[in-house]
Amino acid sequence: MPSDRPPRDIHADEQRRQDALDEYELLDTAREPAYQDIVKLAVMLCEVPAAAISLIDRDRLWHKAGIGVAVGESTRRDTACEHALREPGRLLVVEDVALDPRFAKLSLKLGDRPLRFYAGMPLRSPDGHVLGTLCVMDAVPRSLDAAQREGLEVLARQTQHLFELSRYAREQRRLLIEREAISQRLEASRADLQRRHDKLKYSASHDPLTGLLNRAALAQLRAAPEELARLQQAPYSLMLIDVDRFKQVNDRHGHLLGDRALRAVADAVAASIREGDLAVRYGGEEFLVVLPNTRLPDAAAVAERVRQRVLLAPLPFALTVSIGLAGGEPGCDTPERVFDRADQALYRAKAGGRNCVVADDTLQIGDAPPAPLS
Ligand code: GH3
Ligand code: MG
Ligand code: MG
Repeated sequence: MPSDRPPRDIHADEQRRQDALDEYELLDTAREPAYQDIVKLAVMLCEVPAAAISLIDRDRLWHKAGIGVAVGESTRRDTACEHALREPGRLLVVEDVALDPRFAKLSLKLGDRPLRFYAGMPLRSPDGHVLGTLCVMDAVPRSLDAAQREGLEVLARQTQHLFELSRYAREQRRLLIEREAISQRLEASRADLQRRHDKLKYSASHDPLTGLLNRAALAQLRAAPEELARLQQAPYSLMLIDVDRFKQVNDRHGHLLGDRALRAVADAVAASIREGDLAVRYGGEEFLVVLPNTRLPDAAAVAERVRQRVLLAPLPFALTVSIGLAGGEPGCDTPERVFDRADQALYRAKAGGRNCVVADDTLQIGDAPPAPLS
């Protein structure tokens, strides 16, 4: 006969209880002295041969701690602990199991002897779900006095505290791991940001075709007095390189080969200068090289190396450059003046037939060679 009352959803209740138990992650964990001490106290307090902290899993009873009971698990259906689920709030004392109709048919065992005495205090989660029991057992009928009952309740509360502590410690460990993962992710994105920033900074200051510094980098340099002062603290040279008849190269061989030729010139420059020198793609086919701490004769040798390397560049046509050089003395002339003199020297190199190095001769520095050099 169907009942008029809506049926209580036993399965949903049991599922919630099971979920609560699972949250503690106690099932199938190792024995721990703290829990074992509690059952030892229960045995001493109630003067019984057996006690256990039992957890009620889906279809089994699993002992977190035990004395006088088989270690491990037993089928849930055949245990007295199952009754804790029905009376979750209070201590269940069965003085003689054989005389109690609730258990008579179950033929419960304590080891290989019939179970006669059982007292179990439900162990609950803070929101009331029964997780298991702290129980004491004997193979002979007996009773518990008031102090023993109260003591058993106290021990059950201590067990619950232990459950909460272990859950709290686990949660803290999880949070720690999470925090560690977050800080690792943060570090990874910081490094990624730094890489992007470096890349941006690089591309803002470098010419994409040749990889040399660009004009923006030069402008930045001119706006940095300390950096400029550092470059001019000793006699220095400026070198202006211009590719000869480059318009013809483009016209005859196309812009792609023209670009390749510009890269070849940049490579020739990069291979000829030393660390601390600055090579800038100054215009379309014009390059500026700053050679700090370098007098004109040494700069002329560098310029000659560049000119020779360009001649040997692996290109399907002959390529040449003209180079103008000028030197500056610290505190004597502005970089702009030195640049102008290098430009005039370059003009003379072009006028003198191209494919040569000309040093500025308006200012004699040390034993600067006469211009043109080649
Ligand atoms: P000169 O010997 O007098 O310097 O003659 P030139 O032909 O080299 O000089 P001009 O200034 O007339 O021509 C420079 C050419 O360089 C014109 C321009 O199209 C080309 N150019 C500038 N930038 C680039 C570039 O990035 N790639 C290519 N392929 N060509 C470029
Ligand atoms: Mg030019
Ligand atoms: Mg040119």
